[in-house]
Amino acid sequence: MSETIDGESVAADVRADVAECVETLREEGVVPGLATVLMKADPASETYVSMKQRDCEEVGIEGIHVEIDADAPAEELYETIDDLNERDDVHGILVQMPVPDHVNKRKVLRRIAPEKDVDGFHPENVGRLVAGDARFKPCTPHGIQKLLAAYDVETAGADAVVVGRSDIVGKPMANLLLQKAPQGNATVTVCHSRTENLAEKTRNADVVVAAAGIPEFIDGDMIAEGATVIDVGINRVEVEGEGDETELVGDVDYESAKGVAGKITPVPGGVGPMTRAMLLYNTVKAAGEQGGVDVELP
Ligand code: NDP
Repeated sequence: MSETIDGESVAADVRADVAECVETLREEGVVPGLATVLMKADPASETYVSMKQRDCEEVGIEGIHVEIDADAPAEELYETIDDLNERDDVHGILVQMPVPDHVNKRKVLRRIAPEKDVDGFHPENVGRLVAGDARFKPCTPHGIQKLLAAYDVETAGADAVVVGRSDIVGKPMANLLLQKAPQGNATVTVCHSRTENLAEKTRNADVVVAAAGIPEFIDGDMIAEGATVIDVGINRVEVEGEGDETELVGDVDYESAKGVAGKITPVPGGVGPMTRAMLLYNTVKAAGEQGGVDVELP
């Protein structure tokens, strides 16, 4: 049987470290603040934003929330970002994606001051990550690195396959695994929808990161015995024979993979809690840097 990688427990440790840093910052007169901006009202985005605000509250970070009508001009969003960039009580800014179609997503990401870009999506921060000088590592791949560290997964010299090449998960994950740094030094293959013979590639990997957004698409036959399997996917699917009832599943067919993988993340309870925790981590890092206070984040 595979060892289950418990994201809830590792995330709780990260939150405890963050809460300690928040205390240090507050003692030094810096109250860390995270602004969330929601423009497109869809139920999933609303849930994500409210979870992020609740997470902030739990560790002592001030949450500032701004909502903009979905049909407001794009300029209103840009000006909101400008205002937040100027505010001393806001150390991190997160614009919840997706934004409405009439808003240029790239412009939004470029508008956020790089030192407040706690998602790590501004081109300057992307460039720094690629150059091995990351300011903010994007939350999901950073969280995965923490999981790999917590479970002593050796990446140096390992063959790693990342399935997915999105800007928020696949590409930064591949870059981090490639860095000459802890939880890096892997030989990395990045797969996507045009990849041929995917199973051949995943079967040869010591570490598989599945981030394709396709329910239960990587099964036990596609994994090497003993490999570490990180399932990023969050897919809501109907439960067979249960009418309208739905459940969350990953990109990995957990039932068939768990007997083959050495270590595996469940869905839910694997990568998801880490993504949330790393946002708090990045916010505290931002607050320390902007407030001129040294905070010791592991
Ligand atoms: P995207 O849809 O942006 O990217 C999906 C990637 O998978 C693309 O690069 C796509 O290729 C690739 N892909 C699609 N089909 C295949 C295929 N048949 N074989 C190989 N690769 C394929 O998704 P995200 O990266 O944003 O998210 C991926 C998943 O992770 C989703 O389920 C999402 O909900 C989840 N997620 C979970 C998070 C968490 O905290 N756990 C955080 C963020 C996302 P191409 O580029 O060619 O289109």
